[in-house]
Amino acid sequence: MPKAPSKRSTQARTKSLSKTEKPRTASPENVDFAKMSEALVTWYRGVKRDLPWRMNRDPYRIWVSEVMLQQTTVAAVIPFYERFMKRFPTLASLAEAPVGDVLEHWAGLGYYSRARNLHKSAQALMVNGFPRTHVELQELPGFGPYTARAVSSLAFDEKTGVLDGNVIRVLSRVFGISAEFWKPQGRAELQTLADHLAQVEHPADLNQGMMELGATVCTPQSPACLLCPWQKTCVARNTDRIDELPLKKPRRDREIWLWNAVVFEKDEAVLFVPNTYAPFLKGHWILPGTVERVTSAPKTFDYKGTVTHHDIFVTVSRATANFKGRFKGEQKWVKRTELSRQIPASMIRKAIDYDGKRKTAAQESLLT
Ligand code: SF4
Repeated sequence: MPKAPSKRSTQARTKSLSKTEKPRTASPENVDFAKMSEALVTWYRGVKRDLPWRMNRDPYRIWVSEVMLQQTTVAAVIPFYERFMKRFPTLASLAEAPVGDVLEHWAGLGYYSRARNLHKSAQALMVNGFPRTHVELQELPGFGPYTARAVSSLAFDEKTGVLDGNVIRVLSRVFGISAEFWKPQGRAELQTLADHLAQVEHPADLNQGMMELGATVCTPQSPACLLCPWQKTCVARNTDRIDELPLKKPRRDREIWLWNAVVFEKDEAVLFVPNTYAPFLKGHWILPGTVERVTSAPKTFDYKGTVTHHDIFVTVSRATANFKGRFKGEQKWVKRTELSRQIPASMIRKAIDYDGKRKTAAQESLLT
């Protein structure tokens, strides 16, 4: 349940805010959350898109869609989702599948740790059943605060708010909040408001309405305010601060890395080691090799990859027969025919198939 409201009124402040005044905190007292929620739910029911994960309230289907949607747009997710659901139509089918199959059906979405966590959690859920609250769901691998609240509210109508990028934008604007949402205090401030709004009979529709509003109307640039059910009370609109809100999260500096990846191949199988040496592709089996952080892009390399904030310039070496003796730790051989199932990261597979024609930086820029 949300905390008790504080004394000042957000709506009252809305009337008196000037363009230069920037409220720091949300003050939910006297805001008619019930009325706001009702308006949003009515709007959502009139415009909601027909999406494959909305065909029923199966928590498994909702959960998979929420994990996929964390990394890309609805339009991009749909074909991946449909392919995944065809292969793993039920929680049991996912739990029983080899992890290699799961990774293969995740290929193209990136963030493979999410697929591994889906698989692990599916196995735990088969043993203990699907919890109905976000607090219990958060005990499972891969269920962060967002995913747990989305699943509990969308599948089981738990009265809890969800905060994704779309919702953060909508709340920041409608309440005129300069919250640093990337920090715990800013996030808690927004969560309190989301929780207040979710105290309705159908929190599933309320939360989906918030996400839908952010995705289709309250867009980052040029929101379509005339279509918004909250246009009359929106602080950002009334004070001409739409472009300022939400605050911009400071960008993490990009890092440039050189990766010398060594391909050691024998009998149509390739040698892999657990990634204990590279700051990217953590948790993956990768090719043995070395990495070095540099301050500028190299002049020659074989190809370039990108993982989160890492720009990776790869050079590929082919190992000779006595190379294997240099690796004493954990290792495994993966048959070429199994590569797409066991090694989902395309940046790694590209090294194995690399044709040996080294590029210059100028050539690479022509190709990307
Ligand atoms: S009125 Fe405009 S800025 Fe305000 S919440 Fe609606 S779409 Fe967003």
